[in-house]
Amino acid sequence: MKTKIVVIGSKGRMGIAIIRLLGLDPEAEVVGAIDEGDDLDEVLPGCDAVIDFSHHSVSLEVARKTTEQSKALVIGTTGHATEVKERVLALGQKVPMIFAPNYSVGVNTLFYITRKTAEILSRGFDQEIVEMHHHFKKDSPSGTAAKLLEILCDVKGKSVDELARYGREGEPGARTKNEIGVHALRGGDVVGDHTVIFAATGERVELTHKASSRDTFAGGAIRAAKFLQGKPPGVYDMFDVLGLK
Ligand code: NAD
Repeated sequence: MKTKIVVIGSKGRMGIAIIRLLGLDPEAEVVGAIDEGDDLDEVLPGCDAVIDFSHHSVSLEVARKTTEQSKALVIGTTGHATEVKERVLALGQKVPMIFAPNYSVGVNTLFYITRKTAEILSRGFDQEIVEMHHHFKKDSPSGTAAKLLEILCDVKGKSVDELARYGREGEPGARTKNEIGVHALRGGDVVGDHTVIFAATGERVELTHKASSRDTFAGGAIRAAKFLQGKPPGVYDMFDVLGLK
């Protein structure tokens, strides 16, 4: 039986890619395409799962409605305040949910090897994150850069608030040992580039992922929606979907 999917943000760059790929998928189908001004309540009862790639202001309402109707939820939207993110994730105790900053196999591999590399290069290596996206992107830094930062801070046993240094200007002084710089570049049609830099005296390791097509995120989100079918309520992640745990 096909997984029936409602796509939110259907007229956006990601929504269009997801709907196109769903049209080619023998195991899933679109039963609702929702963008600004459309009524989610009309299509929600007829679906198995909701995929949301819209705007962070929408996610909590979407999660509430999805929970009320006991539907699986895949959120790809980024840029949420911490409190909003926590409230959305709390609803994941009632339905199966994935709320991932990036749905590509490659970036999830980058998350995995960033943790391993940070564990190995824990002494004497300064860590910085650089991301670049197209000039339309609204939030900054990207959700993926935020997740990379979270991983690096976690390995250091410190909070993001303690270590993050977003951009530098003027005379910020010499780099402190533990701070982690995060830098957002914007321009052209770049789908999404992320580099984690580990720099020591005399050598440097750079881990880079470059996305050249939104299909990589769209395909991952569809795979996530299918993965959630029949799963007990709870918050899952792409490591569950990809078997990286
Ligand atoms: P976009 O601006 O092209 O599309 C967003 C769409 O959402 C627009 O069509 C807009 O009209 C719609 N929208 C806005 N408010 C809405 C509402 N209240 N109800 C329904 N629809 C509404 O953006 P995009 O490039 O498609 O990205 C969408 C989101 O997905 C962004 O937050 C982006 O950062 C994120 N993203 C995540 C991943 C990932 O793998 N997790 C990958 C790419 C993009």
